[in-house]
Amino acid sequence: MSMIPFDQREGTIWFDGVLVPWREAKIHVLSHGLHYGSSVFEGERAYGGAIFKSEAHAARLIRSAELLDFKIPHTVAEIVAAKELVLRTSGLSDAYLRPVAWRGSEMMGVAAQANTIHLAIAAWEWPSYFDPQTKMKGIRLDLADYRRPDPRTAPSASKAAGLYMICTISKHRAENKGYADALMLDWEDNVAECTGANVFFVADGVIHTPLADRFLNGITRQTVIELARRRGVEVVERRIRPEEMAGFSECFITGSAAEVTPVAEIGPYRFTPATLTKTLMDDYTAEVQPKAEAA
Ligand code: PMP
Repeated sequence: MSMIPFDQREGTIWFDGVLVPWREAKIHVLSHGLHYGSSVFEGERAYGGAIFKSEAHAARLIRSAELLDFKIPHTVAEIVAAKELVLRTSGLSDAYLRPVAWRGSEMMGVAAQANTIHLAIAAWEWPSYFDPQTKMKGIRLDLADYRRPDPRTAPSASKAAGLYMICTISKHRAENKGYADALMLDWEDNVAECTGANVFFVADGVIHTPLADRFLNGITRQTVIELARRRGVEVVERRIRPEEMAGFSECFITGSAAEVTPVAEIGPYRFTPATLTKTLMDDYTAEVQPKAEAA
């Protein structure tokens, strides 16, 4: 894997309304977002030159910020247009886009009432989140020690940078044990999600997935539920106990970066990626293709 550090690449980044040279898209060390986690972001993909569900991602970014009590000074339409500009300027047609918003430097304390809000958007090539060689065999997941927090403990519905602290720790522990990622339970020990993706199971042709009222209700998750229902497949959103994983035949995870990725193993539980997983992988691939413009 070519590993040019992210601050040393070529290109341009959209920064508070203007395109700046990639390496000059810098912020000061005394930024509230860095010290107090007052930062939210998005992760989305463009396929064949079209950003998939760009409006939904822009709306979620604004909502994520509102949940952290700050207002991004741009509308959904402005953010969508900015992402378009970034994608066009990058020259990429298949790309990953990363909008990020954060509180600036006017105040440096817990209170940040007067801080300006900044927004930057970058795009780069990001092929497959997991090794494509082994993808169809299914990835192996560790069971994380950390739990997804109660919505009374943290703004669980926000794609807030701070919520990823336990995800990075959990993913590192998993990788150090040879796993691709980790499955996290919620604070009541129900199955929740992975460190950067939602999770689905199959039993007897029915899909089961945790209720997304306590973690990010992924845009890919919502898309895959719709795709399954379009095929007449029953999708049940409910609380899932970890022991129930013994009774599921297939498992897959979903996310803008992960897309639909089959899972072979979670801790002591085993799954065999089969027809339903493959069908939804293919349906998702078809769904993200640019729609032909209506005449
Ligand atoms: N949960 C977490 C913690 C994530 O980071 C992501 C990726 N954004 C998801 C779920 C899936 O969300 P989406 O399908 O909107 O990318």
